[in-house]
Amino acid sequence: MYSERQQTFGNNKFDTLPQQCRECDVLFACYGECPKNRFLKDRYGNKGLNYLCKGYYAFFRHVMPYMDFMKQELLAKRPPANVMEWVKQGNPQ
Ligand code: SF4
Repeated sequence: MYSERQQTFGNNKFDTLPQQCRECDVLFACYGECPKNRFLKDRYGNKGLNYLCKGYYAFFRHVMPYMDFMKQELLAKRPPANVMEWVKQGNPQ
């Protein structure tokens, strides 16, 4: 994991992200996904956008309020499973 080869792989994974990824509001969770799937052009015409981008973006945007709620529960030392009751109450609104 700390080998030079592994470090280079990790650095390249970030350094080769296209502009669309660098500006993306779910970059922190997605990170452009696997480099082997990065063969589309982004909205600026740059190479390296992930073939699964639309799906990943939709997924991460969808789960964001649930993840935020569970994070808040954890920080308050309550069970994140409280998300189920939160959803039954009609959230996210
Ligand atoms: S969702 Fe798309 S644009 Fe955003 S980081 Fe992932 S691959 Fe890049």
